[in-house]
Amino acid sequence: MQPLYQTLMADPKFHERILDFDRDRAAACCAAGCPDCGGTLHVANYRRKPRGWLIELGDEHDLRFSFCCAVDGCRDRATPPSLRFLGRKVYLATIVTLIAAMRDGLTERRLEKLAAAVGVDRRTVARWRTWWLATFTATPFWRARSAAFMPPVDARALPASLLDRFAGDGGEQLVAFLSFLDPITGGASMQAF
Ligand SMILES: [Zn+2]
Repeated sequence: MQPLYQTLMADPKFHERILDFDRDRAAACCAAGCPDCGGTLHVANYRRKPRGWLIELGDEHDLRFSFCCAVDGCRDRATPPSLRFLGRKVYLATIVTLIAAMRDGLTERRLEKLAAAVGVDRRTVARWRTWWLATFTATPFWRARSAAFMPPVDARALPASLLDRFAGDGGEQLVAFLSFLDPITGGASMQAF
């Protein structure tokens, strides 16, 4: 059986779906106005080159939606949450989550394939796991929100243990999981990673 990251990353419909979610977040962010002065926001997207694609998609998939305040003397940035970008990570959030969640399923053969397809090597995977286990669990966001899970989410088995808490098939679980992370993927918090 194909691992989930392979199925999802090669599915254009999945990418269109999460892009739509990001567009909705961008529209809501723009409608809310400047977080600093309430002024009108103008589009000021970042052109990123996220890694991890297994298929060719349009340039719009590389855009990190963002806005800039139109008011002179403010010019504050407003960046909505995203299901595609996890802080400043160069890999797509889908990959960073699903590969770190594989734990024992990440065989030598799969690692070799990953390295060949998207340049993810053992060190990168180890770094992501450390990020989930140490950096993520130390965020005020996780400290506040993890208390709501009963029974508690096993912090040593993140991100798999949290993914498991959401309903639906693998794709739906991932979308719900990444949506849950909204508070740490947008605004000023994206600078923190
Ligand atoms: Zn402003």
